[in-house]
Amino acid sequence: MSVRENDVKQAPACTAASLGNYLWNDPPDESKWADCVHCGMCLESCPTYEQTGQEQHSPRGRVHLIKSVAEGKLEVNEAFADPVFACLDCRACTTACPADVDVGGLIEEARGQIRQAMPLTGWKGAVSKFFLEGVFPHANRLHLLGRLLKFYQTSGLQKMARKTRLIHMMPEHLVEMEAILPKVKQPVRQKYKQAGMIQAKGETKRTVALLTGCVMDVMFSDINEATIRVLTRNGNNVTIPQNQTCCGALHVHAGDRETGRKLAKQNIEAFKDADTVIVNAAGCGCMLKEYPELFREDQEWREKAERFAAKVQDISKYLYDTGYEKPKAEIKTRITYHDACHLAHGQGIRREPRDILLSIPGVEMVHMPNADRCCGSAGIYNITHPEMAGAVLKSKMEHVPEEVEMISMGNPGCMLQMAMGVLKYGRNQKIVHTVQLLDWAYQKEDQQKVGESWR
Ligand code: SF4
Ligand code: SF4
Repeated sequence: MSVRENDVKQAPACTAASLGNYLWNDPPDESKWADCVHCGMCLESCPTYEQTGQEQHSPRGRVHLIKSVAEGKLEVNEAFADPVFACLDCRACTTACPADVDVGGLIEEARGQIRQAMPLTGWKGAVSKFFLEGVFPHANRLHLLGRLLKFYQTSGLQKMARKTRLIHMMPEHLVEMEAILPKVKQPVRQKYKQAGMIQAKGETKRTVALLTGCVMDVMFSDINEATIRVLTRNGNNVTIPQNQTCCGALHVHAGDRETGRKLAKQNIEAFKDADTVIVNAAGCGCMLKEYPELFREDQEWREKAERFAAKVQDISKYLYDTGYEKPKAEIKTRITYHDACHLAHGQGIRREPRDILLSIPGVEMVHMPNADRCCGSAGIYNITHPEMAGAVLKSKMEHVPEEVEMISMGNPGCMLQMAMGVLKYGRNQKIVHTVQLLDWAYQKEDQQKVGESWR
């Protein structure tokens, strides 16, 4: 979120140990920048550097700025906050860096300091507090919002707002988002509330717990449903712990590490009896695996977070590692795959989703150049930085092969952003989650079996 002079106020004197001009607990970790030799090999990988050509909007420039504040050469002020919050946190620079400098981790830690020193005020502060503290951590409020959205979509209000162009009273980027909102269905957390455990089909091989996600379960409950069907089909009992909460990624990206820690503790407790925690949203999976980073100054919780993080698995990798059943029904389609940043750069998962797609008879994969380049979604970046997000999306869409019918990926934020790209640039591709396509193939296979049994 870019910071303007009149949106911020200086916070009162802090109470914690400091590092240079970082005056609060949990400052950026010196060991993360220690290996940066300013070689510049990360520059070309950075979408914001590509768009601006400015060193301060490059990974190397950001590392230098973050280090300079720690050395007392720079203040935590607007000039520092702007490039730090303009970063997409896409982690492409860490993949490109020969020294594995964790630029994304530094960015998140620096944002934590900025938001404590310069809390958002005015309408930005109110909106941020409303969603980050008042909505995302509370499943019942999110579900209520989902019902309101469903009413808007099904009551004729949406049609009327579009027809009368009332919708255009909103800023342009929000109008674009409204146009690609998926149809809201019942969240799986609500649907299976009384179910306890969802039983594996056939022989039970393992039991896993599913992170349903906050926004994911409201906007994309059909993908959660597909995930459950695919897991049970492959011999997994599935549990949905009811006391789980939002993963905290949006909070940590926004600099609210304290709420991030609270949510992390709740999830660690909620999943304490699970051996495996399955995640189908790359951003959430990456956050859960990085919980130990939030507890660098708390040994007890750090150890708990490490044990928890070791149990977290992305759905595509879990299916690949446990030997999922290859579908037999044909889905004849030409498809391309977009690597979500937090799957490819954040978790190093590239081969497994492609393997799943290629295992479906009839699927023809077309290579997308720069498949692991950010699409501009980046959590709520497309709301806070619409111009940069739009430029990054434009560049992404230029690489989507014209001849494909579908674009597959493993992150809901990317799905919305890419759907916006398809609409905006007059393309006609369908956006699918990798696990959805596998689920369709299984369903088709089952229908064919039913058909055969009637012959
Ligand atoms: S972050 Fe890595 S690639 Fe970039 S300048 Fe530093 S050492 Fe080089
Ligand atoms: S995380 Fe992405 S946007 Fe941020 S500096 Fe690295 S490459 Fe650039």
